[in-house]
Amino acid sequence: MKKIFLKLFILVLLLSFCSCKAIVEEDEENKVEKTTSAVVENKESAEKEEDKLNLFEFLLADDSFKTPTRDYGEEEYININAGNILAYIVYPKGSLKELDAACKEWVDSTLKQYQEEDISGNLVISYNSYLVNKSYVVVEFSGEFYSPNYAHPVSISAAFNANISSDKLLKIGDFLKAEEVTRLRKYVMESKNIEEEFVDEKLLDNFVILPDGVELILGKGKYLPESDGLVRIFASYDMLSGDRETKSQERSSETAKDTKNLNEKEQENLSNIKTEENPVKKVEINKDKKLIAMTFDDGPGRYTARLLDILKKNNVKATFFVLGSQIDSHSDLLLRMVEDGHEIGGHSWTHRSFNTLSDEELTKEIMQTRAMIASITGIDTLSVRPPYGAYNDRVKDLGKELGVHFVNWSVDPLDWKTRSADKTYNAIKKDARNGSIILSHDIHKSTVDAMERLIPILLEEGYEFVTVSELITIGRGEIKAGEVYFSMKN
Ligand code: ZN
Repeated sequence: MKKIFLKLFILVLLLSFCSCKAIVEEDEENKVEKTTSAVVENKESAEKEEDKLNLFEFLLADDSFKTPTRDYGEEEYININAGNILAYIVYPKGSLKELDAACKEWVDSTLKQYQEEDISGNLVISYNSYLVNKSYVVVEFSGEFYSPNYAHPVSISAAFNANISSDKLLKIGDFLKAEEVTRLRKYVMESKNIEEEFVDEKLLDNFVILPDGVELILGKGKYLPESDGLVRIFASYDMLSGDRETKSQERSSETAKDTKNLNEKEQENLSNIKTEENPVKKVEINKDKKLIAMTFDDGPGRYTARLLDILKKNNVKATFFVLGSQIDSHSDLLLRMVEDGHEIGGHSWTHRSFNTLSDEELTKEIMQTRAMIASITGIDTLSVRPPYGAYNDRVKDLGKELGVHFVNWSVDPLDWKTRSADKTYNAIKKDARNGSIILSHDIHKSTVDAMERLIPILLEEGYEFVTVSELITIGRGEIKAGEVYFSMKN
């Protein structure tokens, strides 16, 4: 009975929503000038309702993007923003020497392999890391390479396991007894119908230690048909030791945390989203001052808190283009950004180039990140920085539909490349002009070091630091959805 009432209630809601829309559309079609204030109100509230619904939908109903589990070490980045291969790679660095070296070597050689191929594309690699039974660390890389030359992205994966007490990297033969390795090999070949002639000594290289067994990851193309994608095969310790009959079993544990469960505050934030304030109202324009917008991408990360301290000490404002995958583990930093008066924008969830994505994927990249920011801060952010600054007409059109605009930059100090505080400092000091939007990354220590010296100098030179939305609104009078902005006037 309750269900019927609920359905009726939803129907009534939908009908009233549709009728609001109908008035608006009719009004637009006939180009009636004498729009009554009631209609305007209806239109505004209908649009507002629509926004709320969209954000809810994207955060709650879609679990295609997850927050990575990173139990081991700190995040290190390779970040290539220009040239043939655009790359965004995250890998761990911790206290286990052999594991760190193996991860770095794999990441470097994978990047090199794509750089040496004479094609253009976007390489994105991320990782999850787990502690298993308090004895082992597992690092699991997964990624994709997108190229206009390929019909489908290439899936990339690798896994490394280390023994914590001995600081040694483990091969399958170090971890399992010889007869267990034989059983595993036989099991993998039988369960996936892999012919003997295709099998080599690397078949069992990509394995992951789990509490109750091991999991094999097989890439497509080598042992299995291209169309299979990545295949995971779980084998329990019971089965491997011969205690039990061979039994197929799916891996029980999730590879990454599920979509965020919203707490009360976050639910409240989402149902009571504030759109950004009109930026112009917040700025007193001093005609003698030169205006500048500092922007920080790819975070929040482990240096962001220090950067926030530096900004506060100098009493300046900046804009943070945050990655969706980084938000959940750094929600305190997002709240601090808002509290300190900075602007937050979205920088996608996975850092894939927008130009390589379908409309559906692109919508998720933008909207899930936007919804996640709103759930934590209660603010609906409409500024988006496309990863690598990459966009095309289709991206702009979709942005217009979603109500967001894109913010690129006029000054790139190449901090992502040089990782030198001196070079970053010199490049920005040399290239900054009135109206500049400056690109940099708060995930690099060198960039934050540069800011410590640079901000006081720029203040001395007569610059006033504003957020990107303030800068664009001052320069243009308004911000339009779907537009791409590079500086105050361009
Ligand atoms: Zn980026």
